[in-house]
Amino acid sequence: MIDFSSIEQMLRDTEQSGLPLWENILVSDCERQGIERSQSLEKMRRMLAAMRQADESYSGGDVSHSGLSGGDGAKMAAYAASGSALCGDFVSEVIAGALRMGECNACMKRIVAAPTAGACGVMPAVLLPYARRFGSGEDKLVEAMYVAAGFGMVLAAKASISGAEGGCQAEIGSAAAMAAPALVHLEGGSPEQMANACAMAVKNLLGLVCDPVGGLVEVPCVKRNVIGAMDALSAAQMALAGIVSRVPPDQVIDAMAEVGRSIPHTLRETGKGGLAATPFGQRFAPQNMNV
Ligand code: SF4
Repeated sequence: MIDFSSIEQMLRDTEQSGLPLWENILVSDCERQGIERSQSLEKMRRMLAAMRQADESYSGGDVSHSGLSGGDGAKMAAYAASGSALCGDFVSEVIAGALRMGECNACMKRIVAAPTAGACGVMPAVLLPYARRFGSGEDKLVEAMYVAAGFGMVLAAKASISGAEGGCQAEIGSAAAMAAPALVHLEGGSPEQMANACAMAVKNLLGLVCDPVGGLVEVPCVKRNVIGAMDALSAAQMALAGIVSRVPPDQVIDAMAEVGRSIPHTLRETGKGGLAATPFGQRFAPQNMNV
């Protein structure tokens, strides 16, 4: 069974197996869950389909219960379609996709937590536009999702994927660090490039605090999915260019765990610090919402 306790171990196990990384992660999933290959693949296909359905279920007219979220995905799509958007078509689509999914979550629609609900927009925001642009079929996307899952398991084992435990670096940062190697896989990169993409994605969001206004997974969460997706894109592109993380990937993840432990309690999903503590944020504090 593949060892997810470190990236180094995961890559070494994979090399010994002679399998591609995604497939070795699939084999390990089957062993761990005691299921057949076809069952594991079916589960991953269902998750991909759920991401697609959530993206398609988006409506620019939906507004969250708090009134804090809604409509930004549609605004971004309209701006992108105007022909005068600052970013190119692909990046504009990624930004719009991240906003859409974040808003779907805020509006209580069905999403795929990857790795968490708050960070649900990052993976689909890069995978779905990539598939549309490059014509990637379902099988290739499913492979990429196994790659993301493998790196996600290492992040969870060595550090955290919980904002309450490790700050937003553990949620949006981990989502970016899963999506980046998935993109490298789609581009035909090596496992080492995937590891470097993961490490660079983590490094670039290291220290990000969790400070949701009113304790709701809306502000800043929805828009942070955009920076997570951008982080994944840029980290993947750097890795594909041959750029490496100077700090070895496992040491980067160890640093993330250490930083997470150092983040004050007020900045770990308690709604008591950062943006949640601003005068605007305080208007949405639970005690003020009840009066
Ligand atoms: S700010 Fe906190 S709740 Fe929002 S996405 Fe980040 S970790 Fe999750």
